[in-house]
Amino acid sequence: MTTKFIFVTGGVVSSLGKGIMASSVGQLLKKQGFKVTMQKFDPYINVNPGLLSPSQHGEVFVTDDGSETDLDLGHYERFLDENLNQESSVTTGQIYARVIEKEKSNVYKGATIQVIPHITDEIKQKLISVAKSTKADIVITEIGGTVGDIESLPFLEAIRQARKDFGYKNTLYIHTTLVPFLKAAKEIKTKPTQHSVKELMSLGIAPDMLVLRSEMPFDKGIKEKISSFCDVKKEMIFESVDVEIIYQMILNLKQQKIDTQILKHFRLYPKQQQDLSEWKELINKIESLQKTVKIAVIGRHISFHDAYLSVNEALKHAGYQQNRNVEIKWLDSTKINAENVGIRLKDVQGVLIPGGFGQSGIEGKLQSIKFARENNIPFLGICLGMQLALVEFAKNVINIKKATSKEFHPYAKNPIIDYLKDGKTEKKTGLHKIKIKPKTLAIKLYQTTNISERFRHNYEFNLAYEKEFLNKGLVFSGYNQNGGVEIMENPENDFFVGVQYHPEYLSRPLRPHPLFIGFIKAVKKFQNS
Ligand code: GLN
Repeated sequence: MTTKFIFVTGGVVSSLGKGIMASSVGQLLKKQGFKVTMQKFDPYINVNPGLLSPSQHGEVFVTDDGSETDLDLGHYERFLDENLNQESSVTTGQIYARVIEKEKSNVYKGATIQVIPHITDEIKQKLISVAKSTKADIVITEIGGTVGDIESLPFLEAIRQARKDFGYKNTLYIHTTLVPFLKAAKEIKTKPTQHSVKELMSLGIAPDMLVLRSEMPFDKGIKEKISSFCDVKKEMIFESVDVEIIYQMILNLKQQKIDTQILKHFRLYPKQQQDLSEWKELINKIESLQKTVKIAVIGRHISFHDAYLSVNEALKHAGYQQNRNVEIKWLDSTKINAENVGIRLKDVQGVLIPGGFGQSGIEGKLQSIKFARENNIPFLGICLGMQLALVEFAKNVINIKKATSKEFHPYAKNPIIDYLKDGKTEKKTGLHKIKIKPKTLAIKLYQTTNISERFRHNYEFNLAYEKEFLNKGLVFSGYNQNGGVEIMENPENDFFVGVQYHPEYLSRPLRPHPLFIGFIKAVKKFQNS
């Protein structure tokens, strides 16, 4: 079938939950039997989102093909339950870089390079390439930022042109806005939406559909008013009321039949009976959770929880499966030391150290690992978390006092954690294979020998120390094809596991990750002990 394109823009304010709305629509269409993929156009100039600071921009998400992307792709993957690729994440910087590169190699044969058509053509090319590489029936493209921003103009111009290129019935524009409730006037206000639609229309895009974010449900009158002012049919206006559980958005939009209207616009018929029972069950389950476990997540960017978004989600997914709410105690590693670690970790039933870069807060993390190890508190170390668990073990169990990582001490001789051995200086990112050893906790959790996980790191365990660690009872339960260590566990404890990869990227609400499930199970046991 001809590919259908849905474009999602936002107006009035940022943080409207556009991405969650867009991916909920994606899930509904997928359940109608279509192959759906998602894409984000980000107006910022950065060429490599992998370099964005997590404390400013939130976590860097990594896809199977090793692209370092905006965190929205994580939402897309979790809602859609589809793996995305490099084509799904597009920034202004990447578009310009590509055009400049082409200009340098004289692709344009002396033409004057302009925003229209050269930049906009390059953007439209991304619509086509994502459709091709995923063979999707429906592509949903979210345009970052808010309509009216200078930065997003070329993207908006490109999607405007898309209707002419691909045809009316193959394109659909959804605009999301805010309808604020003014307490003093006790009224829902539609004016910001009217202005935002006007702004969009001035750029040549007349939205086919509106999704109005609101604190509370509103009556028909509001829709009627907006319909007549904004020239959008009443049945094409939807509300997105604040939800406690984000996955509820899928069911809320379904109830309003947004997917039916989209298919109607595209002249498509459902390919299968839509079954949303899994989502309904999940939400019922979450709503009925009684018990809570408390887990410390120890990092550097804890004031901005989006910096560890996927870890946060993965913990919650496993919690749902194990009938537990997960409460996270965010701890700033720079504020933990040998004196206060016991107090800080007194009320938690699990300790998780997520990935990280650089040496700030290392001491606090090492102290936390020591405390978890010595008190048999379930511990999960991810990437930097595993590297530090190895350094801690070397220091305090093997008695290598100078144990460190090349990352913190570039001149250290024979560090425990050294440069990646494969000879490349570049980072290792994306999906890679791991072989799991028999008779380990890892194989009990995964129930299989060959797994693939997503990576993002520069350093790894120095195999020169392998024997010494093994002699002291540590178990290396997962290795890569070059013999490098990817999973470690300490059998002295009930659950003390470190992994060089990022299991959180593969966790899905309906398919929690086995490692996180194992961790939460151990946390429950510890709580009851
Ligand atoms: N900084 C470490 C490395 O580059 C760990 C990376 C991570 O935690 N993602 O190897």
